[in-house]
Amino acid sequence: MTVTEAGPQAPAPQQRRLRTEIPGPASRELQERRGAAVAAGVSSVLPAYITSASGGLLTDADGNVLIDLGSGIAVTSVGHSAPAVVDRVRKQACWFTHTCFMVTPYEGYVEVCEALAELTPGDHAKKSVLFNSGAEAVENAVKIARVATGRQAVVVFDHAYHGRTNLTMALTAKSVPYKHGFGPFAPEVYRVPGSYPYRDGLSGEEAARIAIDRIAKQIGGDQVAAVVIEPIQGEGGFIEPAPGFLPALSRWCTENGVVFVADEVQTGFCRTGEWFASSHEEVVPDLVATAKGIAGGLPLAAVTGRAELLDAVAPGGLGGTYGGNPIACAAALGSIETMRAENLADSARRVEHTVLPRLRALAEETGIIGDVRGRGAMLAAEFVKPGTNEPDAAATQRVVKTCHAAGVVVLTCGTYGNVVRLLPPLSLSNDLLDEGLSVLEYAVRLEASR
Ligand SMILES: *Cc1c(COP(=O)(O)O)cnc(C)c1O
Repeated sequence: MTVTEAGPQAPAPQQRRLRTEIPGPASRELQERRGAAVAAGVSSVLPAYITSASGGLLTDADGNVLIDLGSGIAVTSVGHSAPAVVDRVRKQACWFTHTCFMVTPYEGYVEVCEALAELTPGDHAKKSVLFNSGAEAVENAVKIARVATGRQAVVVFDHAYHGRTNLTMALTAKSVPYKHGFGPFAPEVYRVPGSYPYRDGLSGEEAARIAIDRIAKQIGGDQVAAVVIEPIQGEGGFIEPAPGFLPALSRWCTENGVVFVADEVQTGFCRTGEWFASSHEEVVPDLVATAKGIAGGLPLAAVTGRAELLDAVAPGGLGGTYGGNPIACAAALGSIETMRAENLADSARRVEHTVLPRLRALAEETGIIGDVRGRGAMLAAEFVKPGTNEPDAAATQRVVKTCHAAGVVVLTCGTYGNVVRLLPPLSLSNDLLDEGLSVLEYAVRLEASR
């Protein structure tokens, strides 16, 4: 199989196109090679091998063009190969690709940290440190909080997802596939109930009271270094806490000298209709962990927060060989430039206003969707057995497979594997969004008629 070179001159396809079944013969051949060379532990949702991508469309090795409603898990929010990202990356690759910021520094790193100080919630003095992945950012937020407070305990929540490194596996809730067999896990991590309105029926204040009571009685507020929380839980099921939950927790942290860490790795960078999801309830985190949408697909992550917290760690205590790589920083600057110029937070709200009513109507019509939720371009449908709230993971899988076969990339999530999540590029055109949704509607109706 040869991959055709789709140079910058090649016209990017503008619509979905099915040339073969998906995955087609060329992808299946690659999948064979993969089987012999790639570890089985890394899996792919849809093994259509991609040869080029543009905006909200992916072209595979068989010439099929897929609508991307996943953005590589909330990463290519500015669209695939966004011009400002490509341009800056290309230039930076010619200038230099790496020096290691800890050896000889460069401006791009500083510029990204300046942008993060400006864009993250709150107008206090802020500093940042850059890494390669979301897990690394969350892990370093905990390191910073421990040094700054002189305490050890870390509080996390049911359904949380924070990554796959040893510490972040401990912070993550779900066992299979993220933790199973990988222990022992890091100590001094405590899990408390969060807020899952569809399943717990509690108000934000009630859910917060339960969580705080648990922390106070079972850990002790004065032992806690950090509360780490996703403002909207991602892998756990796109769970939006009931209003009031996040502000109550944030207040309790301030009163008890606990560092409030918002894991905005999935929710950040305009995804939910604000630059950061904490802002929907005017929560100002002490530390914010970011990654995914930050750099248009290049690996970059950050911890941003109160200057006095970031400066609590002595020089040399934070860093890494590649953290804040110059090409990744260039991509981040291109990505942020695009979000500003195209007002992508507004675009995310446009996606919400298009998608939510249609998913709600579909839930009403078919009876197999128990809850529709989310904000901006981070939206989900939770599948249940009709007339109950019993999770239906098998139905969810069938719906997703139907979409994939029709050339629409959608992802699942959820502790019970019963949530279809939509994470389109924020700039996805109305036409493509409409077409992708029509395919999803078809798939759900087909499932309901089984
Ligand atoms: C994806 C994710 C992570 C981990 O990020 P990686 O870049 O995969 O290490 C952490 N937290 C949240 C909320 C995420 O969605």
